[in-house]
Amino acid sequence: MPELPEVEIVRQGLQSCTLALPMAGGVVAHPRSIAHPPDPDRFLAGLVGSHLKCWERRGKYLLGHLVRGGRPAGVWVVHLRMTGQLLWLSQSEPVTSHTRVRLFFPDGQELRFVDQRTFGQMWWVPPDLALSAVIPTLGHLGPEPLGEDCTPAYLAAHLGTRQRPLKTALLDQTLIAGLGNIYADEALFCSRLHPQRPCHSLHPWEWTQLHAAIRRVLTDSLAAGGSTLSHFRHVRGMQGHYKVQAWVYGRTGQPCRQCATPIQRLRLAGRSSHFCPRCQPSVE
Ligand SMILES: [Zn+2]
Repeated sequence: MPELPEVEIVRQGLQSCTLALPMAGGVVAHPRSIAHPPDPDRFLAGLVGSHLKCWERRGKYLLGHLVRGGRPAGVWVVHLRMTGQLLWLSQSEPVTSHTRVRLFFPDGQELRFVDQRTFGQMWWVPPDLALSAVIPTLGHLGPEPLGEDCTPAYLAAHLGTRQRPLKTALLDQTLIAGLGNIYADEALFCSRLHPQRPCHSLHPWEWTQLHAAIRRVLTDSLAAGGSTLSHFRHVRGMQGHYKVQAWVYGRTGQPCRQCATPIQRLRLAGRSSHFCPRCQPSVE
């Protein structure tokens, strides 16, 4: 599933391709991809004839701000979920079987939403509605891990009082937005913390270490173009290359890059956690 770096790479690509170009038409090939409005024709009517002023990212959500006739025309929100891809293509490119939504731009270009598993979602939020009124989870997201609000003190105050395992807390989008399985595992390795450590057991300096590690792995992944495990692509089709430098994620049985101990995997809250049993001891 795309996480913060992958969604940010898509945002940057959208920002480079789609701005200021009037949308001339579109096709919804699979209504399940449209979460709001319930009628796909109303979704298309909200977008067609307007143009994009800018793309923002909040957690794993993409927010395209629309303008029509010089006035705000609502927000086009996209969540890629498991396998969603937004691809900037020529309209003459063959339409594959997993194409769910197409938006046509000038000069024969289009933004194509390809989504094998069909969990990805799009919303058009009209200008008179708050985003959180249509997408309540957007109103409950925690701070951005690369933003100024997410400090070691924030982590200590909002995660540090909880009994639950660190890994589970890092995946909770209401506590910190945009982390998923890859970067939670990577950040825990870089801060030498075991994924099952209860949050309340951390010392103040360990929150500082974890905070720095989260920023480091996200920044490293952005520089590598994100992680392509299977479906993630830049809007122009390129893959991300972070996985070749990953510390622990997807490396079960391979030697730790710090100490050569084989990387282990455990199940935690239904998800795999990858860790080095020597670099990340389970108790202090
Ligand atoms: Zn190790």
